[in-house]
Amino acid sequence: MSSISDNRVNISNDNPSIVFDKSRCDECGICKNICKFNVGVYGYSDDDYPCINCGSCTIMCPHKCLSERDETDKLRNYLHSGKIVVFQIAPAVRVSLGEEFGFKPGTNVEGKIVTALKMIGGKYIFDTTFGADLTVMEEANELVDRIKKGIKGPMFTSCCPSWVKFLEMFYPEYISNLSTCKSPISMQGSIIKNYFSKINNIDKEDIISIAITPCTAKKAEILKFNDIDLVITTRELAKYLKEEKIDLKQLKDSSFNSLMSKGSGGGVIFGTSGGVMESTIREVYHILYKRRPTKRLLNFKDVRGLSNVKEASITINGVILKLAIINGTGDARKVIEEIKTGKVYYDFIEVMACEGGCIAGGGQPRVYTITNNIKLKRMNGLYKSDKRMKIRNASNNPNIVNVYDEFLDKPLSDISKKYLHTNYINRKEE
Ligand code: SF4
Ligand code: SF4
Ligand code: SF4
Repeated sequence: MSSISDNRVNISNDNPSIVFDKSRCDECGICKNICKFNVGVYGYSDDDYPCINCGSCTIMCPHKCLSERDETDKLRNYLHSGKIVVFQIAPAVRVSLGEEFGFKPGTNVEGKIVTALKMIGGKYIFDTTFGADLTVMEEANELVDRIKKGIKGPMFTSCCPSWVKFLEMFYPEYISNLSTCKSPISMQGSIIKNYFSKINNIDKEDIISIAITPCTAKKAEILKFNDIDLVITTRELAKYLKEEKIDLKQLKDSSFNSLMSKGSGGGVIFGTSGGVMESTIREVYHILYKRRPTKRLLNFKDVRGLSNVKEASITINGVILKLAIINGTGDARKVIEEIKTGKVYYDFIEVMACEGGCIAGGGQPRVYTITNNIKLKRMNGLYKSDKRMKIRNASNNPNIVNVYDEFLDKPLSDISKKYLHTNYINRKEE
């Protein structure tokens, strides 16, 4: 265990997401300030090694002494294990991995990633936008249930594991306000092991399920479930491909494998701050009015962008719903304190720990300094893809309709709850 310092963040040796290399550290304090002011963790806990695994410090450390836990050796071993390797690619990876291979920030290289994953030995390559659509189906129905029962807000999103851990650590009294939905990668991981395996007559023990994500915290999240065997960040994937002498720029595009080949446009924008809110509200509208979401909801400007706290309201069935989108857990702390004193009220709140959402996740490339300009380019890459898609909300996605018909029955059914939902722990009492 490296000695504790007051000048930097302190990372324990058993942190599943982040490692620290003391040899290059000049104790500049940048990481500590990020963790304290942006993430809202440093200085708020008695723990010697408080951490929500977000990786924000790894993005900002000028000497790269803080990094994701490198599991590329594990990836290599799995790919040579003789087992069936199934990959899924999270939305934000497609608009950032290209930066490692000379593409402009925000370029969508989804088809080339599929080709590269096939080249290194992936048997099936799926798109996590499918898992994002599943999350929307479940979460939108949770919200509609609350509206119908007149339950007062806020309901919080739960797809960001760092935010979930933050709430468990600092505000466990709000655990019952958290959606019980697993994150998209974990929902999809569950479907791969429990449904995809069955219909393909594959023993689930023969499947190695690997998620490529922009997120260091997902490495910690998967320890809670048996759905996913390995999480590889965008940076680790770039490193692995370079070691294998694969240059993304030279590759042709390939398509995802069917069944979980596509999500809706709403699933794609999950990778950016405001995207979970926008997709869920599109679906809430669809559930209540049985109509395609309005033009405003298909281009919901109020919830987009990089402001620390974005607010919007919509009228559903005559009821005004107040919405907030919080960019970074540091601001979540401020908003929760205001909720507690009654200064503000919201019905539904999206929180992403990384400022900008997963496009600025802790496992994303460090080729460029992650300025707001780079974040906006990555965001726009996702919004452009959403706009181009014919299917813009989850329940119009035929792959989603199929998985409910064949396996899950309906949102919030017993079987959905078994495979797609979770519960939380009070970490304040740990
Ligand atoms: S930002 Fe990097 S160099 Fe600066 S204190 Fe933190 S770990 Fe050390
Ligand atoms: S990973 Fe996040 S919570 Fe952990 S030390 Fe770094 S900034 Fe703080
Ligand atoms: S915002 Fe996205 S990348 Fe960042 S911790 Fe949350 S899920 Fe991971």
